[in-house]
Amino acid sequence: MSEAQCLFCRIASGEIPATVVFEDEHVLAFRDIDPKAPTHILVIPRNHVTSLATAQAGHGDLLGRILLTAAELARAEGIAENGYRTVLNTGADGGQSVHHLHLHLLGGRAMGWPPG
Ligand code: 5GP
Ligand code: ZN
Repeated sequence: MSEAQCLFCRIASGEIPATVVFEDEHVLAFRDIDPKAPTHILVIPRNHVTSLATAQAGHGDLLGRILLTAAELARAEGIAENGYRTVLNTGADGGQSVHHLHLHLLGGRAMGWPPG
């Protein structure tokens, strides 16, 4: 799929609306359209990266920013104290349905383990 057709590239460019909760020049965070927990936010790189499996060593700073953005948003959402789940679904067996790297921030309820 070309980046022009990528759903999350289109959200990052503003072409498709989303409820954005944070953005800077590197990352964008917005609420999941079908939330699986009281707080369900997706944190993505602005520039297209298909998945963790295709990330390169040069993406290290970006991946760190994505994780730290999730931690900051967890504080802002009031879920940091009780805890939360951060998830990167990768590829078919990982359950990835949108092929633009995204970190799920889930919280506001207790999570089960192991995941399905
Ligand atoms: P994945 O299954 O790839 O790990 O996660 C993709 C996530 O994107 C799902 O949780 C799904 O609900 C969410 N999603 C799919 N389409 C849209 C959309 O158009 N807008 C928003 N905000 N979230 C979406
Ligand atoms: Zn993309």
